[in-house]
Amino acid sequence: MPDTHEVVIIGSGPAGLTAAIYSARANLSPLVLEGEPSNTSDQPGGQLMLTTDVENYPGFADGITGPELMQAFRDQALRFGTQIETVKASRVDLTKRPFGIWVGDPQALEPTYQAQSVIVATGAESLMLGLDREIAFVGRGLSTCATCDGFFFRGREIAVVGGGDSAIEEATFLTRFASKVTIIHRRDTLRASKIMQKRAFDNPKIEFLWDTVVAKYLGNGSISGLRVQNVKTEQMSDLSLSGVFIAIGHKPNTDVFKGQLEMKDNGYLITQPGSSRTNIEGVFACGDVQDDVYRQAVTAAGSGCMAALDAERWLEAQHG
Ligand code: NAP
Repeated sequence: MPDTHEVVIIGSGPAGLTAAIYSARANLSPLVLEGEPSNTSDQPGGQLMLTTDVENYPGFADGITGPELMQAFRDQALRFGTQIETVKASRVDLTKRPFGIWVGDPQALEPTYQAQSVIVATGAESLMLGLDREIAFVGRGLSTCATCDGFFFRGREIAVVGGGDSAIEEATFLTRFASKVTIIHRRDTLRASKIMQKRAFDNPKIEFLWDTVVAKYLGNGSISGLRVQNVKTEQMSDLSLSGVFIAIGHKPNTDVFKGQLEMKDNGYLITQPGSSRTNIEGVFACGDVQDDVYRQAVTAAGSGCMAALDAERWLEAQHG
């Protein structure tokens, strides 16, 4: 027989673990499926596990590292009786209650767990270039979050890779700190909206490197530059830089929910405005998996709290 729980939380970033803290304190004995170790941000603790210093999370005046912050979230969730399993959901059945959640073989007849309510907090992943040593450089000159890490590049020369709204927005934001920002784009026209483009073209600190791709990260321990290639001439050259921001898009971790939970065209889950409710009663979503706008640890944590309160109230109503 599958193990049955009042609340199963899938995901263990700031959203999932905040939902766990709140639902544990409401005596719901939540089970968190925290994911499995990997070398991407789709791992226990989520995207913050690939960040060094976090200086914008309220309450830590001197900053804290991403992994330390997530360990503190985890310890706090455990302290109130959360059960955490280091497994990844391979299949869910949200068509009937109790909901079914499988780990391991998705073809197994019986789900591994059953849940009266489910909180989805599987997060999103930044798309990466897939070059050698990429993950090792994250937090060491390589970043996917200008809001988080821009401050560390005061007075430095840096690059942003990408040509969409994110790249332009990040580059524009980064000019507050950096002495020069080079946008490296693989084509000779931007995908970004015209208004964002104009903002970047008008910014004297932004330069463009068109028709160019990154061939290699340079540096020992931390980024000292990039080897880039012009895709038209195939010519290689080296750029000396202190930092590189990858802004080529994000992918929400929603594959397992396809066909069951309503999603936007870009794969992000849809929640009802002002709540964490999804299209299925008893299933709630929080954090980056349903947020393609703010994507901050603190907003994820806030929405995790909302999901726990929504689940608690919903369960209370079910039990009469
Ligand atoms: P996006 O629109 O998909 O743009 C991704 C950019 O990265 C494209 O320019 C693409 O090049 C480039 N790219 C993709 N894979 C690459 C690779 N492997 N190597 C090099 N370059 C690569 O993603 P986004 O900019 O994150 O935006 C996502 C959505 O959020 C969009 O709808 C956007 O409008 C929205 N958004 C809006 C705002 C705002 O309005 N303030 C801010 C941020 C994002 P190609 O152009 O050649 O495909």
